[in-house]
Amino acid sequence: MILTSTITCPECGAAHSETMPADQCLYFYECSACHIVLKPKAGDCCVFCSYGTFRCPPKQAERCR
Ligand SMILES: [Zn+2]
Repeated sequence: MILTSTITCPECGAAHSETMPADQCLYFYECSACHIVLKPKAGDCCVFCSYGTFRCPPKQAERCR
């Protein structure tokens, strides 16, 4: 199980290495560089799935939603 993902902000391109919660999805993520609040893209369960280098732990375990 991968618990660290790098989120790339679609607005400013900043990359943020974040630790993912192992048992829940993260729906909102504020970019610390430009302060935009990221939300999951349609069809994705969380911001890590949409913008991270790895899918979230629940998705990795296929028990998301
Ligand atoms: Zn940003």
